[in-house]
Amino acid sequence: MRYQRSSTLFKEAQQVIPGGVNSPVRAFKSVGGTPIFVEKAKGAYLYDVDGNSYLDYISSWGPMILGHAFAPVIEAVKKRADRGTSFGIPTELETEIARLALQMIPNMDKIRFVNSGTEACMSAVRLARGATQREKIIKFKGCYHGHSDAFLIQAGSGAVTFGSPSSPGVTAGTAKDTLLADYNNLTEVEQLFQEYPEEIAAIIVEPVAGNMGCIPPAEGFLEGLRALCDQYTSLLIFDEVMTGFRLAKGGAQELLGVKADIVTYGKVLGGGLPVGAFAAKKGIMKYLAPEGLVYQAGTLSGNPLAMAAGLAMLQALDADPQIYTRLAEKTERLELGLNTVLENKGIPYQINRLGSMISLHFTEQPVIDFETAAKGDNERFNSYFHGMLNEGIYLPPSAFESYFLNDALSLEDIDKTIHSFQKVAQKL
Ligand SMILES: *Cc1c(COP(=O)(O)O)cnc(C)c1O
Repeated sequence: MRYQRSSTLFKEAQQVIPGGVNSPVRAFKSVGGTPIFVEKAKGAYLYDVDGNSYLDYISSWGPMILGHAFAPVIEAVKKRADRGTSFGIPTELETEIARLALQMIPNMDKIRFVNSGTEACMSAVRLARGATQREKIIKFKGCYHGHSDAFLIQAGSGAVTFGSPSSPGVTAGTAKDTLLADYNNLTEVEQLFQEYPEEIAAIIVEPVAGNMGCIPPAEGFLEGLRALCDQYTSLLIFDEVMTGFRLAKGGAQELLGVKADIVTYGKVLGGGLPVGAFAAKKGIMKYLAPEGLVYQAGTLSGNPLAMAAGLAMLQALDADPQIYTRLAEKTERLELGLNTVLENKGIPYQINRLGSMISLHFTEQPVIDFETAAKGDNERFNSYFHGMLNEGIYLPPSAFESYFLNDALSLEDIDKTIHSFQKVAQKL
């Protein structure tokens, strides 16, 4: 049996880990079946415990943008580990990576390192609230900013109103400070500002949404958010945990030419180790402890192994002027291939893509927000996912996730993927 050992390991894991996993999407709940357990990965390939290999289109949900076990990162971590793995005392390495990161991203003066994207977003919101002395935030349905309470909010009754908790354990008190709008819908945001002109500390947004498939911002959407924030003296937070160092050196801010007040990072920034960060101008960062009173801390923040991995990753990206064009070209090749197969087949579908982020939705209507993303044909998606998995192509196990291509994927790998898709599509 193809997934025998994975299946056994999954059963064992479920005895001691809730659902057998340490992050829910890994359990394959939405597509069904047994998650594969990985033995190792190198370049574009994952190898599972049953001896199967896969071309990987998730890249650890983004970080492995240069492929798995990228030699300079591995070397940097090994070298650093010999000198100790944590001190709780500053190192020069932290200044070094901060300098390089700030040089690569536009518009920011200072950056604070944390341990995850969740922490970065949670801290960015606290900073925004502290700096503006306001309590409410606006977030968009279907955007993901990590699992802290303020973000686990869904639409309440009535379209433009307070949110309600989307997870048990989040209090109604927290929910009342998170206002919700549809992605790509400026009118709703405007209405919220009219309703609460002096209460909104910040808007937090994925400048290119990557957690309901890939949804690029509509023309004028981000510019409109920028203008509203200026008008109402609120702060604009770009959650670039996914797009940072992926769409361009300077992320979506650079690619789309819109400036945010606070930007959060993660994923690529850590080169595969647990790193998050948030950056802002001096005038905002001065509110953050120990300069200011907004508290934020971390025993392992700026951890030397994580910083060494992140620095090696950023240096590699910074040194390669062609990397983002190359990634976009590879992803476009995949897009064109999928298009050709699907058009011949005559199934309704939408492909959304920006740079090296891409997603395929089995629906007739353009996918522009959470509601339209949710209209996809789940059953068809599941056969697509499992069909491709059996062909040795590892795609996100949920229709609500973007693919993240990595540079280790060759043009031949992509052609092989399209060829596999041709086979799989026959049964869709
Ligand atoms: C992954 C992600 C997060 C959360 O990061 P973690 O490191 O998983 O906590 C936040 N925002 C966006 C846009 C993400 O994609």
